[in-house]
Order: sequence, then structure tokens, then C-alpha cells
Amino acid sequence: MDHDDLRHWSKRAADWAHDYHATLRDRPVRAPLTPGATAAQLPPAPPEEPEAMEDIFSDFTRLIPAAMTHWQHPRFFAYFPANAAPASMLAEQLANAIASQGMLWQTSPAATEVEQVMIRWLASALGLPDRFTGTIHDSATTATLSAILTMREAALDWQGLQQGLSGQPRLRLYASAETHSSVDKAARIAGIGQENLVKIPTDATLSMKPGALAGAIAADRAAGFLPAGVILCAGGTSVGAFDRIADCIAVARAADLPVHVDAAWAGSAMICPEFRTLWTGVEGADSIVFNPHKWLGAQFDCAVQFLADPAPQIRTLGLRPTYLQTAGREEITNFNEWTIPLGRRFRSLKLWFTLRAYGLSGLRARIRNHVDWARQARDALARLPGVTITTEPSLSLFTFALPTDAGTEALLTRINDDGRIYLTQTRHAGRFVIRVQVGQFDCTREDVMTIPQVVADLLGQK
Ligand code: PLP
Repeated sequence: MDHDDLRHWSKRAADWAHDYHATLRDRPVRAPLTPGATAAQLPPAPPEEPEAMEDIFSDFTRLIPAAMTHWQHPRFFAYFPANAAPASMLAEQLANAIASQGMLWQTSPAATEVEQVMIRWLASALGLPDRFTGTIHDSATTATLSAILTMREAALDWQGLQQGLSGQPRLRLYASAETHSSVDKAARIAGIGQENLVKIPTDATLSMKPGALAGAIAADRAAGFLPAGVILCAGGTSVGAFDRIADCIAVARAADLPVHVDAAWAGSAMICPEFRTLWTGVEGADSIVFNPHKWLGAQFDCAVQFLADPAPQIRTLGLRPTYLQTAGREEITNFNEWTIPLGRRFRSLKLWFTLRAYGLSGLRARIRNHVDWARQARDALARLPGVTITTEPSLSLFTFALPTDAGTEALLTRINDDGRIYLTQTRHAGRFVIRVQVGQFDCTREDVMTIPQVVADLLGQK
């Protein structure tokens, strides 16, 4: 296959993609498959001789779509969305065609500069002050790990990087149990240890108790631990919990600790000014992550980390061996120094295309619809006998359950085997509950109202 063949097959792929998206509603959201079914249809070894693209493409259409969970299906209400707006897909095609590697400004000047401008555009779109700069990572997990490594090194006066952690004081981090498991993972792999991630109790609103945070930091200091930082939750994965950001940041500041805010999902909603009260005080954070690849439409992967001051993170993650030096341009931004991997994809292009093609007003309208329709689906579910709303909508996420865990679990299995919609579960206040999040880029009110319809059908209600 050469570049002339690529032109032909790209057109075929574009036609296929159009038809795939146009007919998604005819497919079950989640493939009804048993594990191993796809692998069993592939040969055990690669071909020795080249194969015809016609055969490869036909095997793709025969084997792959039917064995996928369709994240762009308008009735995907599981996990959080991983939206891919058409304009974002187009940008990804162009970025793939250029196939750059943007580790340094000089290896991809436009990629670096579009990324800088997109960070500024997004800070303004989310209502953050101009002083925030930042970068794009693959995932919120990587952004949070970067923030936690920076907290660790600032606490150790950058000695951990040189000497390792042995013999250093025992570090502590603070977060509530509502924060995502990526914080636990970061505490583990940063060498701080999951046991040293102190889970601060929450109050009835599911916010971390600021007084309990202050008490835990003081007790740890008295016991000889070295507090390193606080991670706050703005839209938790389980049920959409928000810490009271301003109050918690005030505690962290009084204790001279840095703060990272995880708004991976809910950050996108902050393009709507009316939702910003949910994270009042966020401008006091040192680091904030949000995933445009969840709710904004810039397809996976695209995690934005805003930084009040990038210097501590660059000091933690940046290295300049001779082969990465850029003679005479040492002061220019080389984004590999802000992130964990050296190599970088051109992720900002899809932000540029998405923000321009839909405009903030178009993106806000979608998010407002999702929040509104989630509430309507919640009300319709609440009217079904036996159904309890276990957590009220936080933006567009709520949960419901039947009277027993076994009954709820069995209902969820039946919902997902039915295929019209896809929902997932969490555990809240000791109960197994079903999560509903509304956020798919192309969903309509009718798609969303399929949720109570399917539940009613399965419960034998009409
Ligand atoms: N934080 C929150 C609140 C999340 O919901 C998720 C994933 O759903 C993550 C972090 C991790 O995101 P990523 O897959 O980008 O690492």
C-alpha cells in the first residue's frame, strides 16, 4: 500500500464511517459477545506475504464493528462519555496524515503554539483567570500523576528526584473517598503509598469536611509526617460529588499545601456560567485537570491540565540531555518538559476544530440539554413502582436502585443484554446502584427518554 492507495482507501473509510454513524441506533450499544470470540477469528501468526487491502478492509467490516461497544452511540449512558464530534474526527484525520511528534517546539512548532493558544481559549471558556497556563496530556490519570509527583518533589525540596525516597520523611496526601481511583494509583506509583493518601470524611453534601482536612494535616504534622498536597474532587465518577473547593483551598493555603482539582468530567460543564458555582474558588488551585475528551467533543485522548505556575512541574518532569537541547532557544516552551512521556501527539488540533466548528454557544446548548434531559429521565424513573432515586442529578449524573442489591444487579444485566441503552453501576452508601449519565454528543431527548422506557418494559410496567 502506498500513498496513492491511501487516498483511495481513505475515501472508502470516510464513506464507511459516515454509514456507521448514521446507523448506530440500529445496533445494540454493547456487543452481546463472550470473551475470546474476536481473538478466535484471527490467525495465530502474522502473514509472511502482503495481503490485499480489499481483504483487510472486508475483514474489518465483518469482524470489528459487531464486536465493539459503541461509545458514539446516542444511547450510551454508561461510565462517562468519550465524545468524538465530527469536527474533532476530521482534525484527528489531518493530525494522523501529518503524523508529527511534538516533543519540542522545533519538532512541531504549530503543534506547540496551537496547544498554547487552546489552553488560553479553554481557560477563558471555563471562566479561569488569564494567569493559568497549562498543557495537554493523554489522560486525567497522567495529569494527576504529574501534579502529585510535583507535590512530592516540592515537599522534599526536589531531593526525591536525586536521591530516591528511602530515608525521606513519610509523605501524606489528602482527598475524599469520592475522588477517582486515579488519585490512589498516582499515590501508589509516585512512591508515596496508598496508605499515605488520607481519605478525609465527607458531609451530607458529599463534600470533604474542611475542618476534618485541617485536623488531619495538623495531626500528621504532629506525628512527624510530611504533608505534600490536597486533591479535590469537582464532579466525582461515582455519583458526581463536589468538594467545597473554596473552603478546602482555604484550609490547604493555611497549611501551605498545594492543591490539584480533578474536574475530569465536570470541567466541560463550566463553559456554562450557571454551573460555575459548583466549583467556586477553583481559581485558587495550583493545578486543575479536565478532559475535553469526555463531555466537550474533542475525541479521546485529550486531557487538559491548567497550572497556576508551571515552574514546579517543569522542574519535576523536565530533563535536557544534549540530544534534546535546542541551541539558542532554551527559553522556548518544549512541552515534553511539562509531561511524563517525551513524545507527544498533536492533540490541540482537534480542540481548535471542535471549538470553532460548534462555537461555545453550540457546546453550551448540548451540555444544558443533557442536564435538563437527565432531570426528565430521573423524574420518569422515579414514577416507576419499586424504583428509588438513590442520588439526585449532579449536572447530568444520577443513580437509581430497586429495593435489593440482587434485584438492582439483575435489572442492570437485563438492561444491558436488551441493548437499547447501556448503563453501568457504582456502590453508594452501602448499596449497589445503577448510574445514569447523559452526555453523548449526538443524543436527543427521545434517546434519553428511552432510559425510563427500557426500565419500565423490563419491570413489566407500561
Ligand atoms: N477523574 C475522574 C473524575 C474520572 O471520572 C476519570 C475517568 O472517568 C478519571 C479521573 C480518569 O480519566 P482518564 O481516563 O482520562 O485517565
